[in-house]
Amino acid sequence: MLRWFKTELHVHTCLSPCADILMSPRKIVGEVLRQQISIIAITDHNSADNVSAVMRAAANAGIVVLPGMEVCTREEVHVLAIFENSASALALQSCVYDRLNGTNDPEVFGLQVVANEMDQVERFEERLLIGATDLSIEETVARIHELGGLAIAAHIDREGFGIIGQLGFIPETLKLDALEVSSNTSDESAATKFGMYEKYTFIRNSDAHFLNQIGKNSTRFLLAEPSLAEIRKALQKQDGRTVQASIS
Ligand SMILES: [Zn+2]
Ligand SMILES: [Zn+2]
Repeated sequence: MLRWFKTELHVHTCLSPCADILMSPRKIVGEVLRQQISIIAITDHNSADNVSAVMRAAANAGIVVLPGMEVCTREEVHVLAIFENSASALALQSCVYDRLNGTNDPEVFGLQVVANEMDQVERFEERLLIGATDLSIEETVARIHELGGLAIAAHIDREGFGIIGQLGFIPETLKLDALEVSSNTSDESAATKFGMYEKYTFIRNSDAHFLNQIGKNSTRFLLAEPSLAEIRKALQKQDGRTVQASIS
């Protein structure tokens, strides 16, 4: 039997320098429960080091936490990578870290906190996570797929770090699994602006950097169970699975 699941597949934690320090594992889980969201993906900039803490914080909460990352490609395009298990996310992380340069200056960019499931600080990440990797967008999407993940172009309506803003268009050959539209663009305006990309499935997420942004812009998925395999089917509109995205 198929059921609707409210999802939020683009959530930052305190590991992202631009995210609020209060985006800690337990606080995120608390807000996700309050917003009655069933499935979230943790997608920090170029790192998955807070994923397992959020998964542990959510262990008995009845929500599904999918491990993910928001990769910044060489072209400065943001791509969401979403996986079933943290081993795949960490495999992408090691590939990303190999191609990421620079050291964070917390005064300029903000703190990068690796936390545990009790919301305690484990350490501060020193790599400059906010920078662009040296991975091309094609390499990024290919690597995500090799690791069994979904590759979703993030906030395609944003001028900065959106695929259309950076490249001018979405390359025909790029095998993206979905396109994400931010709350800046209404459904009507998205239909007009992105009509030529109708072969893709569109989703909406909040790209939450603050607790009060969680669930503000979410997507409902019709699934048999809350898993990545089912989400993939819904994005492909297979076997009755589907997606309903709207600004709430
Ligand atoms: Zn982004
Ligand atoms: Zn983001």
